[in-house]
Amino acid sequence: MDKYLVCSNTGCRFILDRRVNGTSLDGVQKILKTCPACSSDWSISCPYCAQALTVHFIHGLPHSACCGHKIRAEVLAV
Ligand SMILES: [Zn+2]
Ligand SMILES: [Zn+2]
Repeated sequence: MDKYLVCSNTGCRFILDRRVNGTSLDGVQKILKTCPACSSDWSISCPYCAQALTVHFIHGLPHSACCGHKIRAEVLAV
């Protein structure tokens, strides 16, 4: 399940949390078609290793579960 979308801009990496109160919000990318920070397209793949992105949080900061990279400090919760 791709709960998170990540901005495809390598200089941005904005993360969009598709869940609202733990519920998947499948329509969110129809509302936010592009990254609100830089207008790039969303990606569902890890920006570091291109596997399907799974995000986990370490000290409140998002990291890719697949390869352990810190992705971005801020997460947009919709
Ligand atoms: Zn962006
Ligand atoms: Zn990865």
